[in-house]
Amino acid sequence: METANALSFVIDHHERTSAARTGRLATAHGVVRTPAFVAVATRASVKAVEPAALRPLGLQAVIANTYHLHLRPGEEAIARLGGLHGFSGWDGPTMTDSGGFQVFSLGAGKEHGVGKVASIFPGADPDERRAQSGGHGSLVRLREDGAAFRSIIDGSLRQFTPESVITIQRMLGADIILPLDECTSPLHDRAYTAAAMERTHRWARRALAAFRLLDGEPGVPNPRQALYGIVQGGAYEALRIRSAAEISAIGFDGYAIGGSLGRSKDDMRCVLEWTVPRLPDDRPRHLLGIGEIEDLFAAVERGIDTFDCAAPTRCARNGTVFVRGGERHRINLRNARFRTDDRPIDPDCDCPTCRDHSRAYLRHLLTARELSFYRLATIHNLRFIIRLMAEIRAAIEQDRLAALHRDWFPAA
Ligand SMILES: [Zn+2]
Repeated sequence: METANALSFVIDHHERTSAARTGRLATAHGVVRTPAFVAVATRASVKAVEPAALRPLGLQAVIANTYHLHLRPGEEAIARLGGLHGFSGWDGPTMTDSGGFQVFSLGAGKEHGVGKVASIFPGADPDERRAQSGGHGSLVRLREDGAAFRSIIDGSLRQFTPESVITIQRMLGADIILPLDECTSPLHDRAYTAAAMERTHRWARRALAAFRLLDGEPGVPNPRQALYGIVQGGAYEALRIRSAAEISAIGFDGYAIGGSLGRSKDDMRCVLEWTVPRLPDDRPRHLLGIGEIEDLFAAVERGIDTFDCAAPTRCARNGTVFVRGGERHRINLRNARFRTDDRPIDPDCDCPTCRDHSRAYLRHLLTARELSFYRLATIHNLRFIIRLMAEIRAAIEQDRLAALHRDWFPAA
């Protein structure tokens, strides 16, 4: 049985030569034109930029993190303040991630001594990587019932179950929420990945049951929430195919593709090609934790509607800003050649940073560790990705996405 659609999704145009499509995703807090970039706001904040400054950039949606908000300030406090929307002042479409990724990054990532989750999971938050070496010993215990873990803030013992994660997200009040899942690392073998996937499927059924039970509950900040299912299965073809089929059969408002996408960009493309065609065509598809410019073309061409990634904002804070041109469309402002460069970051950009400031000034702010740098650079990178997504949507409407892709990456 399908869940009642809290989310309406209308596909405007299917591109003739690829799986790309444009659409409109209508949530309780507004419409998202897809394909769309969802900015990462882990702690109900896009790092360095206040919510009121996000709308003028054309940002359509943000994704916050259940794990971090549960630990601080806690879902009760946020619910009392009107849910994430009332609490943060961001009144647009909002998602919350389930905390499954944190189970992975604090558990298996540590077990495997990986310590560089970012290269395996491009969306990894650097704070989580720090937490791995925080000396709490084994931080996570996985059982059929859920995951027990120690808080990275005060070391207290906590428990996430598929049901409790739904209750927490009901209180946080995002428009789109996700069930608890177990993310595996590319270092896990096929047998472990399969077992984790089966557990994720059982958790998905429990999450949906809990979600329905709480549907229409009075006093929740956002009575119109949608629940997405998450496809797992690592970089194994048979597992991804099975997971896509099983999660689709359970029936969710939309579908997210999570977990390890393998070790290379080719692996990611394969995972998408195994997965996306097996998801219901009329429901939205979200790719978790991907958002490098080149990945974004690959995902959209394979039928992804929304994706989130910390990379554009994290890169910005490190001095890496997007510029149209060159092999990877980016420059690092630390480079001495920008010391007296009076041009804006990108002469074609219409953002306030490019309107008002030179590369030389921004480089100075960065090297002097002036706080305004983080805001100015983040604003530029967000605006750059948002404009690129608008260009991609226009290209799909005209059936010329491949030409736009070649325009951006002639060698691809
Ligand atoms: Zn700019």
